[in-house]
Amino acid sequence: MYIGGEWREAVSGRRFEVTNPATGEVIATVPDAGREDARAAIEAAHAAFGEWSSLPAHVRARYMRRLYDLIVQNVDRLARVLTEENGKPLAEAKGEVFNGAEYLNWYAEETRRIYGETIPSSSRRTRIWVLRQPVGVVGAITPWNFPSSMVTRKIAPALAAGCTVVLKPAEQTPLSALLIAELIHEAGLPAGVVNVVTTLDPAAVGQEFLENRLVRKISFTGSTEVGKHLMQGAAAQMKRVSMELGGNAPFIVFEDADLDAAVQGVVISKFRNAGQTCICANRIYVQESIAPAFTERLVEAVRGLRVGHGLEEGINVGPLIDEAAYVKVEGHVSDARGKGARVLTGGHRLTGPGFDRGFFYAPTLLDQVSDEMRIVHEETFGPVAPILTFRTEEEVIRRANDTNYGLAAYIFTRNLGRTVRVSEALEYGMVAVNDSLLAVPQAPFGGVKESGLGREGGHHGLDDYLEYKYLSVVLD
Ligand code: NAD
Repeated sequence: MYIGGEWREAVSGRRFEVTNPATGEVIATVPDAGREDARAAIEAAHAAFGEWSSLPAHVRARYMRRLYDLIVQNVDRLARVLTEENGKPLAEAKGEVFNGAEYLNWYAEETRRIYGETIPSSSRRTRIWVLRQPVGVVGAITPWNFPSSMVTRKIAPALAAGCTVVLKPAEQTPLSALLIAELIHEAGLPAGVVNVVTTLDPAAVGQEFLENRLVRKISFTGSTEVGKHLMQGAAAQMKRVSMELGGNAPFIVFEDADLDAAVQGVVISKFRNAGQTCICANRIYVQESIAPAFTERLVEAVRGLRVGHGLEEGINVGPLIDEAAYVKVEGHVSDARGKGARVLTGGHRLTGPGFDRGFFYAPTLLDQVSDEMRIVHEETFGPVAPILTFRTEEEVIRRANDTNYGLAAYIFTRNLGRTVRVSEALEYGMVAVNDSLLAVPQAPFGGVKESGLGREGGHHGLDDYLEYKYLSVVLD
């Protein structure tokens, strides 16, 4: 683990195994932190805070750009490890590393623009100023589905704001975070500014983040269930929270859409990372008149996807992360089948040569799907696309909004009026129109309802790591 600028074992001496989800092989062991390790990391971050937060912005920016350069120079190594621990195809892993690095580049620039305000006062002798100051030590918790970019998406705005960080990566994928820590060390960031603790007991480290008064903010990406637990815990000390949680994205195809673009959009949105992205299309709503033509093209496209080990050439879809993920996907498919859905392609685990020890699931399309099926209400997190049909704009808006989630929504249409009406009516933090990729450093990524609080990306993302301080000065 990386604590206070040094590489350390856990105090207990325990380690845990990291496995490759494509092969079931153990690829590494890493330290298994307990609360005392988390405490040491928090104290290191606290000790580093005063100096880091008072550095001139351009100096913090220089460190961040150095880290950006090192990540880009090491992209092949980072991507390979990412594929080995997460399973995604190597090309996707490279894309993730580059995308994640861009947050460092963008926030390195943005750190120069943390401006205060001057506000007209109520008297001639008084001046009112508003300062922006970093919130302090941040406890950051990241998931396994983007083991590299989730790390940089959190540390970049935190460092730009002048915060210091203790990062706890997911237990399935700690290696990408440790590699980034190596590069942080090489970039010469002062000791303690970023610390990484790995653990098989996330609840213990999470509890230390919640109870330790030195931690002033929790930045979490993961499931809504754990997010709620952390938010409740943070309330005891009124810690700041940012929550990037689950989603249940509707993907709406209107009859005036470019069908080929919409098919391509589903393939990218639904099958990227084997459907294990928080913003991936979970429900495909197709207007009745075009449903047969759209479905036919989509079946053909999905049948063309190649499933396999992410390090092999030409693979589009890797394995699911673990057995639990497989059980959930299989549960959704069998529930839908039992309630009358038809499997158009896929619908089963892949076994046999090359697949025997990994968690591979065939890219799957279902139709004759109805609203009472689990797959419509829960996040599937797998390569399964349910197709539902609709008649009118009002109907599809109502059904799309009928969920506790509100992260991303997609619409495909060439009608401008409809684009505006539907985008405004969708209760989601992000709406992609004729587009299937969201998550760029300059835009505010995040959700509403039970999909979370706060934003990552853009100047909005920086605000989440800054406090306001109002200064009232009476002149002599
Ligand atoms: P998860 O909530 O189980 O795990 C996420 C992280 O939380 C991991 O680091 C894990 O170790 C940690 N964790 C688990 N229990 C904890 C506890 N009690 N205290 C502190 N930390 C704890 O989620 P998961 O199933 O591994 O990840 C998938 C979920 O993440 C999906 O719901 C997905 O939608 C969501 N996600 C959201 C975004 C987003 O930006 N909104 C991005 C990626 C993933």
